[in-house]
This record gives sequence, C-alpha cells and structure tokens, in this order.
Amino acid sequence: MKIRDVIVIGGGPGGMTAAIYTSRQRLKTLLVEKGLCGGLLANTDIIENYPGFPEGVQGRDLAVKLKEQAQRFEAEISEFTEVKRIEPAGKLLRINSNKGDYTAHALIVASGSIPRKLNVPGEDEYIGRGVSYCAICDAPLYKDKTVLVLGGGNTAAEEALFLTEFAREVILVHRRNELRADGIFQERLTKNKKIKLILNHVVVSINGKDFVESITVRDKESNKESKIETSGIFVYIGFLPNAGFLEGLVELDKDEFIITNEKMETSLPGIYAAGDVRAKEVRQITVACGEGALAAVSARNYLNGKNKKY
Ligand code: NAP
Repeated sequence: MKIRDVIVIGGGPGGMTAAIYTSRQRLKTLLVEKGLCGGLLANTDIIENYPGFPEGVQGRDLAVKLKEQAQRFEAEISEFTEVKRIEPAGKLLRINSNKGDYTAHALIVASGSIPRKLNVPGEDEYIGRGVSYCAICDAPLYKDKTVLVLGGGNTAAEEALFLTEFAREVILVHRRNELRADGIFQERLTKNKKIKLILNHVVVSINGKDFVESITVRDKESNKESKIETSGIFVYIGFLPNAGFLEGLVELDKDEFIITNEKMETSLPGIYAAGDVRAKEVRQITVACGEGALAAVSARNYLNGKNKKY
C-alpha cells in the first residue's frame, strides 16, 4: 500500500492551508474530504473579514482558489472520502474510509464541525421540508415568503441578512435578550427593514402537515407560548465537532472538540488538529488557516525527527 507522509482530513480552510504547506515542503500529501472541498466556506455567501479582499470574497470562490493552490503544489485531493476510523499501525497511522484504507506517517485533522440541532419536536421530521441548516443552499426556495432564523451568533446574523435578498420577511428568534453577533452585524440587522428580532424566546416545537407551517415559541419572561407562521426555518445555533472517528485515540474536551497545544499537537504524537474541530474560543477562517499552517510545520518537524531515528 502507498504510504503518504501526511494525510490531511478535511477540505475546509484549515485543511487546505495545511495541505498547501505540507506539499510545498515536498511531503507526500493526501487530503481527504467527505464531500466537496470548501467546508463551511462553500456554504457561505460573502466573506468580509478575510484579509486581502477589501470588497469581500464569495465563500465558494475562496474554496476553489484554496483547492487549486494545494493542487498546484501537488497535494493529492480525494473528495467524497469519509473517514470512519483511525488506528495506529506500527509506526504509522491508518485511516479507514468509505473508499478503503490509507496509511501515513502523520495526520492533520481539520474535519470541521456540523450544525448543532435544536432537538425540539418537528425538527428532524421537517428537515428538507422547511427546516434547513444552509441558507445559501435553500434561500431561493423562500422567495417572497416569511422565514425564521434561530440563533444569536455571527452565523445567524450573517445568514439572516443573506436571506433578506430572497424572503419578504426574516424573523430572527434568539433565546436571550442580547445577541452574541459582532457589532457590525447587529447594526445591519437593526437597520434592515425586512428583519424582525424576537429576543428572549425559546423554541418549543416546529409544526406543519407535509411541510413546515409554523413554530411555537415560549416567552421566557411571561412563560406564554405563541405560534409564528412561517414556511422556512433556518437553524444556526452553533456547531458540534466532527471528530467521532478519533474517540479513544486523542484527548477531547467535554464537547468532543480536539485538545491541542499551541503547536497543534494532539495527545498522540503524529496527530495534529486545526480549524473548527479544535477546542478553542475563536472560530474564524483566518484562524483556521493559521492553525493549518502551524499543524503542517509541526508535522514536518515530527517527520524530520522520526526519519533521524530510522
Ligand atoms: P455561536 O457563536 O456559538 O452562537 C450560537 C448561538 O446559538 C448563540 O447565540 C447561542 O445562544 C445560540 N444557541 C446555542 N444553543 C442553542 C439552543 N439549544 N437553542 C437556542 N439557541 C442556542 O455559533 P455561530 O454563530 O455558528 O458561530 C460559530 C463561530 O464562527 C463563532 O466563533 C463565530 O464568531 C464564527 N463566525 C464568524 C463569522 C464572521 O466573522 N463573519 C461568521 C460566522 C461565524 P447564546 O448566545 O445564548 O449562547
């Protein structure tokens, strides 16, 4: 079996930056991605805080450029390759995927995160029939309709603003009295006439027949329940790590994000982590890229040390 120097798991900004760095070091690099490269980037409209693009850059365009950049330096990229398990194999690490096994001297895990679910009655039932986790994918279905966005962070704010390009009205429902989103988003939300904010309300259930028709919310102050009619509900209440395949192998935090030191080293030598799957405070594209670069440098140093021992 072909042995790679480094396998990068995940084709988001962290993983693709790691692959750019390792392939420029002339390390034999394979990047595996469970879908198409891009990660959350590919589901993001305009990105305004990635340096070097004063007018902003479309998430999909940035994803394509990062992939092209990694391929330019001969990183091998395998899309639609989902990692199921990782296990040590002597001095190597073996990953098992839906396309078979791959082996490498070092791994960089940049597998990102998946949307957190509300876990209320109706949510699972109406996925694809009114409940969505991707505005960029589904917004055109709600032209001139009323849609709801749930959450109070940057993602909820950004996606609510994006949805106003299609919907007649966007109602943002948040569980607390204040939003967590950055000031610039809060300004834009309040200035946008299509957006209505409902604060201090929690979701009780999602209701409908064949498709979503309404949502029931509870006012936390009065404890009263009310129904809001809507045909689309976009859930943006944070993300959970995509690291189940590492369970029992490296140290994870209580929410199963991967714990690393500042060199992006996990608790198992030879495995590094970068991007949103890592336990940390700040989740930004720029941060993921920096961590991808650090992980790549650490992997290279590890491989140099390993070779000397042979
Ligand atoms: P987040 O910052 O973790 O915010 C999640 C939001 O969902 C919070 O407002 C939280 O409420 C709410 N929430 C969590 N669990 C909930 C539940 N069970 N029911 C109802 N509401 C719930 O997540 P995010 O907005 O997806 O952002 C993730 C990371 O990406 C952040 O670091 C963010 O800054 C970053 N990001 C940055 C940009 C940008 O810079 N342009 C854009 C998007 C995302 P509480 O506030 O009450 O906790």
